[in-house]
Amino acid sequence: MAYLTTAPRGTKDILPSESGRWQYLESTLLRTAARYGFREIRIPTFEHTELFSRSVGDTTDVVQKEMYTFTDKGDRSVTLRPEGTAGVARAALEHGLLGDALPLKVSYNITCFRYEKPGSGRYREFHQFGVELYGAASPAADSEILALAYHCLKEVGLGSVVLEINSLGCRECRKRYTQALIQYFDRYRGQLCGTCLERLEKNPLRVLDCKNPEDQRIAAGAPSILDYLCDNCQEHFREVQARLTEAGIPYRVEPTIVRGLDYYTRTVFEMVHTSPNGERVVCGGGGRYGGLIEELGGNPTEGIGFAMGLERLLATMTAEGCGFPPEEPCQVYLASMGESAGVRAFRLASLLRERGISAQCDLMGRSLKAQMKYANKLKARYVVVIGEDELQKGEGLLKSMDTGETTPVRLDEGIQIP
Ligand code: ATP
Ligand code: MG
Repeated sequence: MAYLTTAPRGTKDILPSESGRWQYLESTLLRTAARYGFREIRIPTFEHTELFSRSVGDTTDVVQKEMYTFTDKGDRSVTLRPEGTAGVARAALEHGLLGDALPLKVSYNITCFRYEKPGSGRYREFHQFGVELYGAASPAADSEILALAYHCLKEVGLGSVVLEINSLGCRECRKRYTQALIQYFDRYRGQLCGTCLERLEKNPLRVLDCKNPEDQRIAAGAPSILDYLCDNCQEHFREVQARLTEAGIPYRVEPTIVRGLDYYTRTVFEMVHTSPNGERVVCGGGGRYGGLIEELGGNPTEGIGFAMGLERLLATMTAEGCGFPPEEPCQVYLASMGESAGVRAFRLASLLRERGISAQCDLMGRSLKAQMKYANKLKARYVVVIGEDELQKGEGLLKSMDTGETTPVRLDEGIQIP
């Protein structure tokens, strides 16, 4: 029976008391991105499984361990999206958006699904806000994406979140770096975890992303990708930084960032919040992906984007004491005694609502005393009591719940609420 009253592990309800914060965060992020020309795209919750294994990379944790994959009734393998980039790329290809005016700029606000161990900001269903920019290979595009990430964080009061950036180079740089990594990790074969030994064979870069503390300790001494960048990639990374500096966008170069997904090339970054006790919270991440569109069968097209985890953003905002706009309270509660007064209260409430004023009236057949108690609970700004006398006079008293002050108020079309 507990299954009927307990949500599945790793999921969570967003209650009416919390949804205002979510709406505020989501609308602020979408609005900020819109200022940079990003328009929202809405994609399906599930896709063909192959889309993710091909794009995210089948040696990544996401694909190897975390996907919600199932066979549907038509015997097709489908997967609940673990992230947004693959679906957006698929949609852009399917609808020919990449053949239109470039750069293409889109934003998304989605739920994602990963079969992870829940706890400390980790869920099995979570929310991501993200953006993608297609068609621009220039460092200018990288800087614009980083500027937008910073701007989004600042807009919600998280200017203290640090942009940690790195470059993963191009295929050529990666080849040489991979060799160096294999050479380095070879010495530690006896100490690496089983998964990392496998990674060392299939995708050595992934060892740097292992969450196992012992592996992390070994990875800390690994050679830095920045020492293996070719001239072009070095120049690209330098130009990105020069532009950030020029625009006053704070960042820190962090050569250990590799990101959890395989499609990245050149610039990658994470948005990191450090709590007072030194805990590192990754609120989001992103980067440039050169090969993704091609991998999916399109013409070579550069892409760059980021995704932010909204649960972690909200938790960080709360920890940092960021302000949220107050919820819109009930402006007026129309209390009534008796049936005809109740009908009048309903009519007046409808009238006020059409005028854009939030108004409520009794739906429970409660006593006046109980209605007043309820109005208090709602934190109604004003209350009008409608009884026989008031009905006859067509006028009542509007009471401010703040000051207790009363003023006469008409109980017909002439009703005016401050
Ligand atoms: P992590 O290293 O924390 O596992 P990741 O590299 O898997 O993160 P991305 O795939 O880049 O994360 O997703 C972008 C953001 O989405 C993360 O920075 C994080 O804020 C959020 N996120 C990722 N996985 C989860 C999850 N299981 N629950 C809640 N938020 C998540
Ligand atoms: Mg992860």
